[in-house]
Amino acid sequence: MTLEADTIGIYIHVPFCLRKCPYCDFYSCVNRLQEQDAYVQAVCRNIEYYSKEMSIPKNVDTIYFGGGTPSLLLPENISKIIECIYNFFNVEDSQKHEIEITMEVNPATVNYESLLGYRKAGVNRVSIGLQDLQNDALLTLGRLHTAEQGIDTVYESIRAGFENISCDIMIGTKGQTQKRLMQTLEELAVLPINHISAYMLKIEEGTPYAMQNMQNLVPDDDETAELYLQMVSYLNENGFFQYEISNFAKKGFESRHNCRYWKLKPYLGIGPSAHSFIDKRFYVPSELDLFIAGEHQKIFIEDECPDLLTERIMLGLRLTEGIPLSWLSDLQKETAEYFAKAGLMKINKDRVCFTPNGFLVSNTILCEIL
Ligand code: SF4
Repeated sequence: MTLEADTIGIYIHVPFCLRKCPYCDFYSCVNRLQEQDAYVQAVCRNIEYYSKEMSIPKNVDTIYFGGGTPSLLLPENISKIIECIYNFFNVEDSQKHEIEITMEVNPATVNYESLLGYRKAGVNRVSIGLQDLQNDALLTLGRLHTAEQGIDTVYESIRAGFENISCDIMIGTKGQTQKRLMQTLEELAVLPINHISAYMLKIEEGTPYAMQNMQNLVPDDDETAELYLQMVSYLNENGFFQYEISNFAKKGFESRHNCRYWKLKPYLGIGPSAHSFIDKRFYVPSELDLFIAGEHQKIFIEDECPDLLTERIMLGLRLTEGIPLSWLSDLQKETAEYFAKAGLMKINKDRVCFTPNGFLVSNTILCEIL
């Protein structure tokens, strides 16, 4: 079977965590893992509902388990969800890598056996939440794993048969200096992985970090900018090419699912707090009880008629490949040229993109352009 052009990605939000990390504002619940079977049944009901009742593309080429902590689900439950998608949608064979099935993995929750179980269930890409490779930094971040456990998870994933491995790290965290970041990057770059996501710590309102005034204890904007630029140049020089503001990959290992978001291709989100884009944007309320009890998930329309060109420009400029210059009006082109002269954008023949310095102030520049 060959996938038609009209494909969809499916995102499954797994809303369970062992403990809340003090900086995190993603929706997840602690101490409710005993409800995982009911949650999985609700996910499967929704998969069937969307496939039968909704007019959406039926050819799936990416599946992404995010959270929360998907690796708290038993392998048989991940298997049930994947099987259900295979039953109700048209899916390529994961063993041939024609579909990308990613699962976020928390090193504190897996071992070789569970990783092997996820691999056998059909998952073919793991995204490991390392966050840092220094134990004092991991403690400050409230993580439940050590640097050694993080590295073990990479090697155990390889042993379990994963060839497509991504690791997440954070920059701008308390106590991080250029020297300490370099130590982490040097260790990371020699691991047998092919993708790195590097997120700048953001102090989100309502989180314990915000209440502890962590904003005053982390590197300031200038220091974080230096850390970011140092990281971009180190990773680019060491085989991990930047393809998005926060994402780096060896050639051919860019996240296909996440590229859907930036290229505004359709995706269906299932689970409490999941977002979707299928012509319009809609989301599911952040309530596990409601999700489990409902015949199918309740949705709220976020944007009935998105301004697709503006969204394409904003999202496309997150990618280092940028966007066609033809998407901009004459006035917008003039503004882009102004920022190109300042070294913040690049215009190459018929495309325009941000430079690494430009990514740091991309929101401000986008406000000027749009
Ligand atoms: S494990 Fe991930 S989703 Fe859960 S609280 Fe920590 S950062 Fe948030």
